[in-house]
Amino acid sequence: MAKKIIKRSWAEPFKIKMVEPIKMTTRPYREKCAKDAGYNTFLLKSDDVYIDLLTDSGTNAMSDYQWAGMMLGDEAYAGSKNFYHLWDNVKKYYGMPYFVPTHQGRAAEHIISKIMIQPGDFIPGNMYFTTTREHQELAGGKFVDVIIDEAHDAQNTHPFKGNIDPKKLEDLIKKVGAKKIPYVSMAGPVNMAGGQPFSMANLKEIYKLTQKHGIKLWFDATRATENAYFIKVREKGYENKTIAQILKEMCSYFDGLWVSAKKDLMVNIGGFLATRNKHVYEEARNMVVIYEGLHTYGGLAGRDMEAMARGLEEMVEFDNIKARIGQVEYCGKQLEKYNIPLVYPFGGHAIFLDAKKFLPHLKQDLFPAQTLASEIYLDSGVRGMERGIVSAGRDSQTGKNRYPKLELVRLTFPRRVYTQAHIDVMVESIAQVYEDRKKIKGLKMVFEPKHLRFFQARFKKI
Ligand SMILES: *Cc1c(COP(=O)(O)O)cnc(C)c1O
Repeated sequence: MAKKIIKRSWAEPFKIKMVEPIKMTTRPYREKCAKDAGYNTFLLKSDDVYIDLLTDSGTNAMSDYQWAGMMLGDEAYAGSKNFYHLWDNVKKYYGMPYFVPTHQGRAAEHIISKIMIQPGDFIPGNMYFTTTREHQELAGGKFVDVIIDEAHDAQNTHPFKGNIDPKKLEDLIKKVGAKKIPYVSMAGPVNMAGGQPFSMANLKEIYKLTQKHGIKLWFDATRATENAYFIKVREKGYENKTIAQILKEMCSYFDGLWVSAKKDLMVNIGGFLATRNKHVYEEARNMVVIYEGLHTYGGLAGRDMEAMARGLEEMVEFDNIKARIGQVEYCGKQLEKYNIPLVYPFGGHAIFLDAKKFLPHLKQDLFPAQTLASEIYLDSGVRGMERGIVSAGRDSQTGKNRYPKLELVRLTFPRRVYTQAHIDVMVESIAQVYEDRKKIKGLKMVFEPKHLRFFQARFKKI
């Protein structure tokens, strides 16, 4: 008799201790909400959203260990013990000796950009991130995308689409000179490419190249543990290393890093910068006092820093990161069953719908991804986010619209928040919108803010 092979599933390494009710709404109710919000999912009231996949930023469920830490907040203006606990953990997990807390990631980007960038400088990076590029350009720099070409192709299954193309970087160095490049800005996984990681081999190569030219290498380490997970499961030689070991090795190649703690660290607010560069540290420590607060709290309460310190300990647990990325993968596999056009490979924090393929009859000026995000909300109250022409904004020098190759809707997974049943409901709603896609007409922008327009732009239905 042939032996029956029984499939063995995995499940989350936690159980639910507290619940938060969510509102079920009707289609006519959502039609009114969407219209009032100018068909921009950022302008919806969260109370009118059923399953909220707008972002994984600050939307995390904290553990009982983190909540217990909140009660141990030392709210001293100077020298809070939570600051020292957090600093110890930053040293331990990122391997950086110096640390400055900030209220969130973009505040660290602001300070680093101001310290490092002179007007007329160039900052190469592996695809832009909205707030990162904005601060680099406000400081007078010009962002230059040096990610590998594969990253701009939604269907390409390269396992490390977040890699920097060394040739593109060398060409830029030749063209503008190393003196005009204060640092290379490397993020992983790359959000705007669909949550795609870089490999350790690529990082080492870029490190060598920047060393050769005397250029610093800085790390947007906001989702670094997700990148470490992909290195562990995809890159030869790392299968037996722990997430903590891989994270430490990654950080060892950088001069400094910044983090939005609202992602990997599983808290609701917080950020920091950390570096091995004493000069940058001294300046940052001084500057944070102007913009955020004293260097031992950086705009945060003591209890927030304690939750971050504890989140750091949890973020490197393999089962935790596996369950997170596993949920994203489950969602992708379910959507595939309905032939929904997706970005490949599935990202670490989100599934990205390819809006150009989903709505091929809409030109980019009709905002296909913005339209698709609003149609999904109308169908089921599920909220996603546009990552296409609206997010790309206008060129800072010519003022013209940028036309990114990728026109995506991002469905982002808050950590430890939704169950598999929520994912099933969301998948079926997207399948329904896909079924009815030919009837969808597109949007017209009727209000455009000057900075980061995707947050507040308003649209009308055509
Ligand atoms: C969220 C994020 C930021 C900005 O951090 P905030 O905490 O939102 O200010 C910067 N870089 C990346 C990669 C991010 O995901």
